[in-house]
Amino acid sequence: MLNYVLLIGTIGLLLILIYAIFPALLTRVFKKFAIHQLDNSDNKQIALTFDDGPHPIYTPILLDLLQSKSIKATFFILGSEAEKNPAIIKRMHEEGHLIGIHNYKHICNWLLSPNALKNQIEKTANSIQKITKSEPKYYRPPWGLISLPTIFNKKYQTVLWSVMAYDWDNKNGSDEILNL
Ligand SMILES: [Zn+2]
Repeated sequence: MLNYVLLIGTIGLLLILIYAIFPALLTRVFKKFAIHQLDNSDNKQIALTFDDGPHPIYTPILLDLLQSKSIKATFFILGSEAEKNPAIIKRMHEEGHLIGIHNYKHICNWLLSPNALKNQIEKTANSIQKITKSEPKYYRPPWGLISLPTIFNKKYQTVLWSVMAYDWDNKNGSDEILNL
């Protein structure tokens, strides 16, 4: 009986490692399967990306700021929030920002079956396409944690980041972000 429990436990652990931990580790530590930064060998450039929106209050303020400085950014948005705030998604698109997918809800990919993940991504892609009439090409998983299906998904390019600004953390201000 104990051997049986141990065997099931070992197989379960192996499956979790193969499905979730190894793909995320290969991506985060060895920079595989995702874009982490621009090819920046000659120029000092940054690509600004913002996740989790659109937010009805903060995203328009951010869009105003970007517009006043003529800066284009990429927004990895949640399909559920896009459906609640279609005018903001339309504005992002019309003002020249890139819109990518960040799942329909902010759910960790490790907890999603391949089919559930596909639903999250396609539902969000459909929401974006319906509002902007333009097909998204980029994907960022919540918390940057990919699972096995993302490695084999050739439809969307996975994009992570090289520096996190922690702008969502009240402890940090603009000085901390400038010092990154
Ligand atoms: Zn997020």
